[in-house]
Amino acid sequence: MGKQGCVYLIGAGPGDIGLLTLKGYTYLQRADVVLYDRLVNPLLLEWAPPQAEFIYCGKMPKKHILRQEAINDLLVQHGLEGKNVVRLKGGDPSVFGRVGEEVEVLKNAGVAYEIVPGITAGIGAAAYADVPVTHREHSHSFAVITGHDKSPSGEPLIDWQALAKGIDTIAFYMGLANLPYIADQLISHGRSSETPVLLIQWGTTGKQRTLQGSLATIVERAKAEQFKNPAIILVGEVSKLKKGESWFESQPLFSQHLLLGRTNEEPSEIGEHLRDKGAEVFEFPRMQVKKYRLTEANMATDRDLLFLSPASVEVFFESLQRNKIDIRTIQGNLYGLSKKTIMALEAYHCRAEEIADRTSNDSRLLIFGDTSWADLEEERERFALEHDFIITHAYDRVHQTEHTFSRLRDEERIDTIIFPNARSVETVTAGLQACGESPSVISRHARVICFGGKSKQAATNAGYSVHTVLARPSEDALFEELLKKEAPHAVVLS
Ligand code: SAH
Repeated sequence: MGKQGCVYLIGAGPGDIGLLTLKGYTYLQRADVVLYDRLVNPLLLEWAPPQAEFIYCGKMPKKHILRQEAINDLLVQHGLEGKNVVRLKGGDPSVFGRVGEEVEVLKNAGVAYEIVPGITAGIGAAAYADVPVTHREHSHSFAVITGHDKSPSGEPLIDWQALAKGIDTIAFYMGLANLPYIADQLISHGRSSETPVLLIQWGTTGKQRTLQGSLATIVERAKAEQFKNPAIILVGEVSKLKKGESWFESQPLFSQHLLLGRTNEEPSEIGEHLRDKGAEVFEFPRMQVKKYRLTEANMATDRDLLFLSPASVEVFFESLQRNKIDIRTIQGNLYGLSKKTIMALEAYHCRAEEIADRTSNDSRLLIFGDTSWADLEEERERFALEHDFIITHAYDRVHQTEHTFSRLRDEERIDTIIFPNARSVETVTAGLQACGESPSVISRHARVICFGGKSKQAATNAGYSVHTVLARPSEDALFEELLKKEAPHAVVLS
């Protein structure tokens, strides 16, 4: 485990969750408390431990921003309590991130800290727009400049002469409100009005938008296209290297924000594949396994055993050990419901088959599964009419996942809800309701896709308006459906 009482000041990168460093990820996984900024992708919170406390430091609707002094106090307070404190900041913490002030406060209070660098927006967003900031043929220098500072007018106090004449590529941060001033200053200090400019809004995220022009034209265009912060203003010849859609924008599922209903603790393969195709995927709600303790009586050694999931296999073998039962006393055949479950059994060096292949039914089958199967007697009877059912575990919703959901909803980062099965309708709905959201309201803003008739029935009963039922309940069919059209409007604040 990490040191006792340390504050980790971590760069979260510009938006894409994959741009967090490995070190940042490791510390996040051990955090007791996470304080995060507005520009941090809320999906990163899903990597914190289930019991971690989250503190949002950005602006909330109708509420004020948590002031820097208050953030400093919280860092010190939690640090002195001996916790692992993660302070997640957008981009790199040292680039316009106020990390200096936080470090000073921590030092004065005698709290240990580390700074974990991140990918700053000026470089990361540019790369996701196909622009290398110092492309050898176009640029020998790169500067990072604030487009907003402490001067009375908020206009940056910079040596414009040196900047206009001496630096090839300039990335302005927080500059959109001052774009007219910035363009004016550069031109009046000798930069050609033809100089290419690229604006990148919400770079590296599904909301990425870009706009090109020159110092002469960009102000009008930005106004017409309503460009807003967070955006990088990239000035210099490299800005013209973006031609049409970038590698990032041309991914098939770029700009789609998917909520994928989840019923157990493992991230799904479908989710991973959708991410590979460029979608932002939130597997909701996050779940945690609560294991049951099996007694010797639960593990009758002379019966055929069916395991409904890998987690059931785990619980069974842990219980064998706890009850000091030798595996060699198990006489019945072992069956798994899925390939994954069979593999879990094989990992314990046991031969297992799919339940569909069971021919003999001399012994009454013993079925091991989670609580969701308890009421599904008819479905269990399809495996064997004569059986007993033993609960191995339950899935509990991790309440922190509600925090992630609320932030994503407030940022309009959910445009599609996918129900792979009927049970996911239950778990998602319970999660939504805990966030004060209702099926009918959310389906006004997000399209609802169901894998099949059963999930559609469940979703309709729960109050969703179902947009599509897939022609086949498969990943390919889902992908085709998602490709069909741009997602409709993102979720707006209810
Ligand atoms: N520490 C951050 C910068 C914080 S200042 C970093 O290193 O990136 C906030 C400004 O950063 C925003 O106003 C915007 O100019 C820029 N920014 C942050 N994330 C961005 C993103 N995903 N796309 C474009 N600009 C971004």
